[in-house]
Amino acid sequence: MGALAAFSRTGVIKGLALSTAAQAQTRKKGGAYRRIATEEAFAIPEMMEILGGYCNSNWDNPDLDLMRRFTDPEAKTYKELIDLGDERIRNMDENGLDMQVLSLTAPGVQMFDADTANAIATLSNDRLGEAIKRHPTRFAGLAAFGPLDPKGAVKEMERAINKLKLNGFIINSHTHNEYLDDPKFWPILEAAEALDRPIYLHPRSPSELMSKLYADYGMSHALWGFQAEAGLHAMRLMLSGVFDRFPNLKIVLGHMGESIPYNIWRSDYMYEGSGAPAKMKPSEVFKRNFVITTSGVNHAPVLKYCIEVLGADNIMFAIDYPYQSSKPAVDFMNEVGISREDKEKIYHRNAERLFHMSA
Ligand code: MN
Repeated sequence: MGALAAFSRTGVIKGLALSTAAQAQTRKKGGAYRRIATEEAFAIPEMMEILGGYCNSNWDNPDLDLMRRFTDPEAKTYKELIDLGDERIRNMDENGLDMQVLSLTAPGVQMFDADTANAIATLSNDRLGEAIKRHPTRFAGLAAFGPLDPKGAVKEMERAINKLKLNGFIINSHTHNEYLDDPKFWPILEAAEALDRPIYLHPRSPSELMSKLYADYGMSHALWGFQAEAGLHAMRLMLSGVFDRFPNLKIVLGHMGESIPYNIWRSDYMYEGSGAPAKMKPSEVFKRNFVITTSGVNHAPVLKYCIEVLGADNIMFAIDYPYQSSKPAVDFMNEVGISREDKEKIYHRNAERLFHMSA
């Protein structure tokens, strides 16, 4: 939006930034909300260069179909992903956003071999830590790690929280077609629980075990494949019983819970007699161990339903910047007909608590 277009006919400045002090002042008067967006993507050039190389290889993988659009340094989205400074903050200011919780964009380091994954995760976490140091009131961040080397992953998770002061972890669903309920990955779940930080289970395209059927009609990505893949991953965790073993582990799911809340009654009903090892039924585990976000879904009936089924304490605001636009997401949350108390929880209180951010 041009500077002139930001002025409405009445002369009221619309959509322009209030200073942080002015925002705090307005909040005190019961006006604006503190807004924390919790699934906001960034990238580092080194990661994009390797993925770009994969895009030019003969590796037939649905994530690469998507990354082809974003790994070109001339692409608008590439520039938005790489930027951890002025342009990103300008977008936040224009839309009344106080903070972004940043995470390395999907598929993160999970298409790399173990050594490359560890190296890029470390580099990316360092850059994220530096960006947060430069802008401590505007950015928080989730650490990447390489799941192929669970021991190395745990070390990096500890460094990310204790040394870099990051706020949690990001994983982009499967890693070379393997899922976190596999006991070989349990040290990662154990570390997240011990560090008292959530793992954001972000989607990527369906694994190669099932990707063929999603390749038709454009379903590999957010149209259907992402929620099918991430929802499956979350169900595997819930039914496997990992939460009996790690009762305080917290998992965050974007996109209003990747369809799980909508199916939860039937999942409970069919859980009885299913042979699933979990000691608790899906709805109990989901309410205890999961928090969902509004990322990518600006749909009032779904939010109201999720508040009714899960409670407002289990929902956080998110945009999915830069893949989706900030303004429609903020307009949606501002206008949705829920109580001020619930809106405060979703806009910032739950994120402050879960990610150990100062209020
Ligand atoms: Mn996302």
